[in-house]
Amino acid sequence: ASSVEMRKVNKYYGKFQALKDIDLSIPPGKVTCLIGPSGSGKSTLLRCINFLEAYDSGEVRIDGQLIGYDAPDKKMSGRRLREMRRSIGMVFQQFNLWPHMTAKENVAEGLIRVRRMSKADADRRASEALAKVGLADKIASHPSRLSGGQQQRVAIARAIAMEPRLMLFDEPTSALDPELVGEVLSVMRTLAGEGMTMVVVTHEMGFAAHVADQVGFMEKGELVSVDSPDRILHRP
Ligand code: ADP
Ligand code: ADP
Repeated sequence: ASSVEMRKVNKYYGKFQALKDIDLSIPPGKVTCLIGPSGSGKSTLLRCINFLEAYDSGEVRIDGQLIGYDAPDKKMSGRRLREMRRSIGMVFQQFNLWPHMTAKENVAEGLIRVRRMSKADADRRASEALAKVGLADKIASHPSRLSGGQQQRVAIARAIAMEPRLMLFDEPTSALDPELVGEVLSVMRTLAGEGMTMVVVTHEMGFAAHVADQVGFMEKGELVSVDSPDRILHRP
């Protein structure tokens, strides 16, 4: 499992400063939840970790390796960035599945294209990943035939099939009907139990309280506090 270190990370959108001097240590095998008001910079922070957003100054290190830059002001090559991202899985609010592909094909596609696996190996790995998220009986279904919770579990299976050492979740349950939230959280809880390093932007305070090892509270681009869920959420 990977660790992440953010030091003095700043990010601007034009003149607007979306992240202000972010210092955050994400220990290996632990769950870090990011909470705070809408627009406070949670998603931006998360996307700086895999360099989906380029931070403007500071450092983001994954297992000690600087991501995005080879040196200050020298962007990393696309190839090197893709290499580093291979060990990072990401799950978004929108599931981003290919509508014309079955669940299994959605999971296998990346294995074939990115990992250069044979179709047979990719199919096997995809079936295992789908079984792990409780969808063994849905491998041949297209997304339109699946509930939102099932679609999000396919998206999680797609990420874990790549065998990441770090998983980033950006409001993974926010697009779901309330009754479908629990099945996705429970898959995430299982992953956490297996020692996956996870960073989760979420409004699910129950998940943050019961599953997170640390909770970061953001406000206006600042990481105001990072502490145990007990202290941040005043859990009884
Ligand atoms: P959160 O995830 O906490 O809701 P975001 O990280 O999405 O917050 O956004 C932080 C701030 O940055 C918001 O004010 C948002 O409007 C702004 N922002 C986000 N993405 C962009 C962008 N691509 N261009 C300009 N402003 C952006
Ligand atoms: P405990 O094991 O501490 O009794 P519960 O499983 O009863 O915790 O759930 C307590 C709170 O956690 C619930 O109110 C809900 O908000 C949230 N929660 C419920 N199911 C899950 C889940 N699968 N993963 C994460 N949080 C959950």
